[in-house]
Amino acid sequence: MDLHVLGCHGGETPRHRTSAFLLGRKLAIDAGALTAGLMLADQCALEAVLVSHAHLDHVKDLATVVDNRVQSGAPPLVIVGTKATLGVLRKHFFNGLLWPDFSQIPSPSAPGIVYRELGLEVPEQVCGFTVRALLVSHTIETCAFVVTSEEGRTMAYSGDTGPTERLWEALAAEQDLAAVLLEVSFPEKERKLATQSGHLTPQLVEAELKKLGRPELPILLYHVKPVFQREVELECARITEANLSFLQLDEDLVL
Ligand SMILES: [Zn+2]
Ligand SMILES: [Zn+2]
Repeated sequence: MDLHVLGCHGGETPRHRTSAFLLGRKLAIDAGALTAGLMLADQCALEAVLVSHAHLDHVKDLATVVDNRVQSGAPPLVIVGTKATLGVLRKHFFNGLLWPDFSQIPSPSAPGIVYRELGLEVPEQVCGFTVRALLVSHTIETCAFVVTSEEGRTMAYSGDTGPTERLWEALAAEQDLAAVLLEVSFPEKERKLATQSGHLTPQLVEAELKKLGRPELPILLYHVKPVFQREVELECARITEANLSFLQLDEDLVL
């Protein structure tokens, strides 16, 4: 399956974009950089966005992508997430105050967005992929996604998480797992902040990967805070019993 990195950081500068990934051309995972990283035609080619949780760094470009699509006459964008995540988007984001309620405009019969609720743990079909949402451990309800292509390739996306259990238990049963996109946000000296905010440090990543127990599996790291990028990269370079690499902006991978 083709993965394109639109945004892979836990903060934003002209050289860093927040979390957003493309699987093929139609399906995005998170929306932190959908307009920052995609030309108009590609924004309009999207069909659905899997939203891991409602934090702004994962949803903010929903505002601008929908606006652009409506003006371009594109079909409704399907926003896929758990009931809790969609509830936050309805109440606090597309609420007619912070941003227009695009589930009702331009018209209720032809809106800019359609919400699709995703159940937990059950495989569902989205844009030709099989998607399973699993709860991880963050400060608000957050999902990891296990995504399988029509060709049978599987990748996992951790979402924002601190130390967690269910994800690793579920991935242990995946025979044909191509890669795991795993968050790492803070260096060790910020361990307290990482713990308070539900994120991982390099040592915590090492401990999480021991739970998975597949040292050869490609682990693609993302969500590094720009302020701590060098430090986190250096600390991760000391982890030897794992196949780690950092995702790069605008990178294309075949998983
Ligand atoms: Zn978050
Ligand atoms: Zn985040």
